[in-house]
Amino acid sequence: MNILISACLLGVNCRYDGSGTEIPELKELLSKYTLIPICPEQLGGLSTPRSPAEIKENKVISIDLNDVTYEFIKGAEETLKLAKLYNCKYAILKERSPSCGSGKVYDGTFSKTLVDGDGFAAKLLKEKGMEIIGETEIADFLKNY
Ligand code: SF4
Repeated sequence: MNILISACLLGVNCRYDGSGTEIPELKELLSKYTLIPICPEQLGGLSTPRSPAEIKENKVISIDLNDVTYEFIKGAEETLKLAKLYNCKYAILKERSPSCGSGKVYDGTFSKTLVDGDGFAAKLLKEKGMEIIGETEIADFLKNY
């Protein structure tokens, strides 16, 4: 089974601050599934490192007040292309990210305040019927699939 996964969870240094953290379950995931790495923000044309950005009123605004909504939309669309190409039904995505977060994202004030909502890529994938698994849900996913 092919599963889409946020590249930063594989230890790829694609996060806004140039970091990435390998998840502890990586070996087990690789032994069971084919993981397809994606980074919607890079796929949308943003550089690494880049300014942190948060969602506010359906736009994505960086901490230095640049509107990067276009790049986030493009990144979500490119991510969907890969999901379709590889026939992925599941995506393991980094929690709380304005692209990859599912269920909870930061509120746009850069104060670490969480609100209900989805990142742009997670939202699009969900709309197309995919199931999103956050990194804290991987252990349960491995037990059940
Ligand atoms: Fe990770 Fe997603 Fe952010 Fe890329 S866009 S760094 S994959 S959380």
